[in-house]
Order: sequence, then C-alpha cells, then structure tokens
Amino acid sequence: MSTIADNISQVSARIAAAARQAQREPSQVGLLAVSKTKPATAIREAFAAGVRDFGENYLQEALSKQEELVDLPLIWHFIGPIQSNKTRAIAEHFAWVHSVDRLKIAQRLSEQRPSTLTPLNVCIQVNVSGEASKSGCAPDDVRALATAIAALPNLHLRGLMAIPEPTDDPVAQDAAFARVRTLQHDLQLPLDTLSMGMSHDLEAAIAQGATWVRIGTALFGARDYGQHTPPADTGVAPSPFTKDPS
Ligand SMILES: *Cc1c(COP(=O)(O)O)cnc(C)c1O
Repeated sequence: MSTIADNISQVSARIAAAARQAQREPSQVGLLAVSKTKPATAIREAFAAGVRDFGENYLQEALSKQEELVDLPLIWHFIGPIQSNKTRAIAEHFAWVHSVDRLKIAQRLSEQRPSTLTPLNVCIQVNVSGEASKSGCAPDDVRALATAIAALPNLHLRGLMAIPEPTDDPVAQDAAFARVRTLQHDLQLPLDTLSMGMSHDLEAAIAQGATWVRIGTALFGARDYGQHTPPADTGVAPSPFTKDPS
C-alpha cells in the first residue's frame, strides 16, 4: 500500500525524469493535483507533502472542500466542464480555470470576477481528438476565441489545455500533444502555459512542452464516482468494482 506522500514522490520523479529527457528544467513543469471525488483529508496529506495546486471538476464538491480547508494556503484550479449558471461561483472561488471553451463563458467569468481579486488565469480547452470528445473548442476556432479572451479585462489568458483521447500508443500521444503545442505557438500571443498530461501520459506531454500536468489517479488512487457522472472525455471508466486502494 502506498501513501499519498509516496505517490507524490514517485510522480515528482517521473516529472523530473521526463523534463530532463526533454532538456527542460523540472521546475518548468507544475504538478496540479486533481482531487475530484477525494476527501479534504487527502488534500491535507498532499499539502503536507508539498503540493499547493489542486484541480477540481465539480463545483459544489469543490466549494465544500474549500470551506473545510480554509486554513491552508491552497491554489484552486477549475478543470471541469462549465455551465453558465456556475460561472459566478467559479469566478469568485478559483485562481485558475483550465476549461474555457466558448466566449460566452469567458465573458461571464470576466464580468463576475470580483475586482478585489487579481485577474482570473484561464486556459482555452482545445479538442484535438475530434468526435471522441465533446468538450473543447475546435482547433480552427482557437485563434478567434483566444483573441477575444485576451481582450477581456478581468481574465489573464495563459495558454491552452487539452485532454487527448486516451491511448497507450506513445506515437499517438506525442502527435496529440505536439498538435496542442503547435496551435499555441501559432497564436503568437504572449502565452506561457500548456496544461496537458495526466497520470498515464505525462511523459509525452512534458516532451511536448507541458507546463501543468494534471494528475489524479497516480496521486490519490482510483476514483469512486458515487453520485457523480464521470466526465465522458477523460478516459476514466467508472466501475463499481474500482475502489480507492489507499
Ligand atoms: C480527472 C481529470 C484529470 C486526472 O486524470 P488522471 O488520469 O486520474 O490523472 C486530469 N484532467 C482533467 C480535466 C480531469 O477531469
């Protein structure tokens, strides 16, 4: 049995090895711990082991964990699909949003970002796997969306995010992440962020320039979705037999 602290060391070692392999500094790759479906106690353990950034997909679940953890200086990232009636709470309670895929959502986040807070860091989620995924802006629409978002006063457009179709084929992983890198580069905007790579493909993402890897399972164990419908496009099949091993 492994503890969260052990898992963090192992994932950090994978990140460092992948960065060195790509001639990059390990410090250029941030570890975003994806804590969806996991209790606040798991987040406390990860915090004690040095993690500061946490990603959540479900707003209500995230808000209640934030309340339980107000005593910790955590940085919260929203990474799930966004409905327009959720934008106000997201604008008020998160430092980053990785999953902006349409202008209406971006406009609402900008309007609803409290003036007492710094601009909300956002990434545009781009769909590089075509019909396999419903979320994300089409690659052809990224330029127009990025230009419009860059003009919104209370958002800070940082870069692109992607969840490629899950595959164990390293060549296909590489091609999908290279596509995201090229899309970002071609925008010719001052962007510094590529949010890509999960537990099973972080090495390929880092080789292609990832600056955030979003890691859930490899840190916290398999998820038990319970009441939640798992996101269709994260490659995480819910199973009644899958239980958190920790
Ligand atoms: C759940 C999720 C992750 C983490 O995936 P793992 O395979 O458990 O590492 C990363 N990004 C997003 C957007 C997710 O929804």
